[in-house]
Parts: sequence; structure tokens; C-alpha cells
Amino acid sequence: MTASVVAIKLEELQAIPKDKIPSPRVFREMEDVAALEAVLPGLGVVRKGVDDDTALNFFRQATFDTLSSSIAKDHETLLETLHDICIKAGFQTNIDCPMSDCDRKFIHRPGSYPCQCERREQLFETDILRLHEYFDDGHSAGEALNRLMSTIEILVLLNVLRFFVNKAPTYLASSVFVLDGPLAIFGTPASLLGSIRKELKSLNQIAMDKAGTEIALFGLEKSGRFKEHWQQLDWQDNQGPRSGFPEKTVIVPDDEYISTYVKPRNKPGKPFGEDTHFGRIVLYKTNRGKHAVIHTAMLNELSDNFRDNSARCYVRLGDILDTVDQMATYMYDDALIPIVRAHAHAAIPLKQGADIISTLLGES
Ligand SMILES: [Zn+2]
Repeated sequence: MTASVVAIKLEELQAIPKDKIPSPRVFREMEDVAALEAVLPGLGVVRKGVDDDTALNFFRQATFDTLSSSIAKDHETLLETLHDICIKAGFQTNIDCPMSDCDRKFIHRPGSYPCQCERREQLFETDILRLHEYFDDGHSAGEALNRLMSTIEILVLLNVLRFFVNKAPTYLASSVFVLDGPLAIFGTPASLLGSIRKELKSLNQIAMDKAGTEIALFGLEKSGRFKEHWQQLDWQDNQGPRSGFPEKTVIVPDDEYISTYVKPRNKPGKPFGEDTHFGRIVLYKTNRGKHAVIHTAMLNELSDNFRDNSARCYVRLGDILDTVDQMATYMYDDALIPIVRAHAHAAIPLKQGADIISTLLGES
């Protein structure tokens, strides 16, 4: 597993002549990259030399170790980010001990510590993600790994935002942050949603106090119902795809629209995104006529109300759409440059996969 953070200077991107396809070297020179790498064990893998080891315990330890890493020197670890956002939001958990034969409640503390029961099994702060529940019968380890991967992406994002807001606020006005994927959290880690929403609002407030600017942050959804809906909406029978709306059209669907035309409500009265999202959906047709489904971060109280789609719910939307337009000039298959670049970097360590795995298994 690799998570990458890529920084691209847009002014250098603009300097490239429009009719030229830039060489990979041009990108390498204008971007900075940090990558976080980990190999995580799945079902049936145990550690050499650990008595009575289980795949689940190995996975829990590996999860904790991965989050204990940091993406930049002299900056907090992902675990510290997780810990701090939970503490600030008054996060409460009422889950059972992850050890299947222990009937105690899990106690949430920083780091790693023994359970209160007589066996004193090792617990981890990261057990609050409840990924161990995916190790039950009927699930695959892939589910646990996917949930962990998306949680790490969100923690990296918050970790980077905290760096800028706390240590380099002067860059905030001229920076736009983008996550590859929706601004949402699914499965058992969704219990962090309240803490994430609270942290984003707090960071936005600090940004305003320190730098007089709000944060420009969005996620890009690559496929799914909203993408399909946007394509259908922008279709005319006699003229085909992308013929219904002019370039630079922005649509901000509220809950009424979403539940009627895109996704029927799961439960009456519960808006789409209530239990999962920390971003608001925006459908945008770029200056080149491409369809983008973006999620703008919920950075103020107003944006929490999915029935409200007034302009204040979409913080720095203008800057975000400008950025989408600029990067979409070099868009490949509706993916933006930083995302293509992040994938390029993420692909590198996979080539050395054999070495990483032997290191993990203690055979090197
Ligand atoms: Zn226990």
C-alpha cells in the first residue's frame, strides 16, 4: 500500500505552451512528492517468533505501525493526527475488546497498552477504527484493507492541512487541496465522521484568524451515480453527449434534488451523506467540456445542512473550479494531473514488491 502527496505549482503548469504535450521530466521538476509505504498482512498470515499469533493480531499491529509513520520530517504522525482530532471532538466509543474471547469493553487511550482483563492482551489506539470486525467470517481481508486505505488517505489529508494551517498559513490563500476520491468515510471507520467534520471547521477558523483566508479543499469522484447522472443530464437525444449545458456550468444539488433524481433516501428524513460525507456535491462542466463531480469540504456550520445549497455552503468554490479548469487542460480520462501524478508515484514501490514483502516477513 502506498499513499502519495504531490504538490504541483500551477504557475509552472501555465507556462507550458497549450499546444504541447509536456514531457514527464517537466512534471518531475515542478512537483514535490512525499510517499508513505506499508505492506499489510491479510488472512492466514502470522509472524515468525510470535507465540499464538493470529492474522488479526498481525493486521492490528501493522495498522498501528503504519499510522505511527509521518509523511514529513518534523511533523506529527498520522496517529497523532487521529488522536488529536478525536480528543478535540470529544470522541466516545462503546465497542467490545477486539480480542474475541474477552468480554471487556475496549478502552480508548493513546498508543498501545494492555487490556484490563487478566490476559492483558495488547490493545492499540487504532482499534477504534474497528477494522478487526472485517476479519469475522464472511468478510475478506480485502475489505479491512480497503477501509484502512481510505482512512489513511483522509488522515494524510488532515495531516497535510494541519501542517499548512499551523506552520505555513501564508500559503493557504494561494493553495488548493485535492483528495483523489469523495470527501466521505465508509464502513466502521465512519465513526470518525464527527471528529473529521469538527476538525475541518476548526482548521478553517484558524486559517481565517491567522491568514485571513478560508481553506480551498475538494475531492474528485471518478465514477458512480453522480457521474452517471451528470452525463445523462447533459445529453440531448438529437445531439448526443455533453450537448445540454454550456461549458463552466455549475450545479449544486440539495438533498431534495439528490433524493428525487440521483439516490433515493435509505431512511425517510435522512439526507444523502448525513452519516458519511464531509463534502458537498458539485457537478461541474469544465472549460473544455469535461464532466467533473467534485466534493467541496464542509468548512462551516451552514454546509452541514444538506437541505441548504446557498453559496456559503461551498467555500472558495471559485478558486476550486478555476483549479479544476487549469488542471483539466491536461486531464486524462477525467482525472486531474495531481491524481495522475500521485498514481505514477504510487506505482513505483510495487515494482520492488518482493523485497518489501521479505522485509515484512523478517527474511531479509
Ligand atoms: Zn480484552
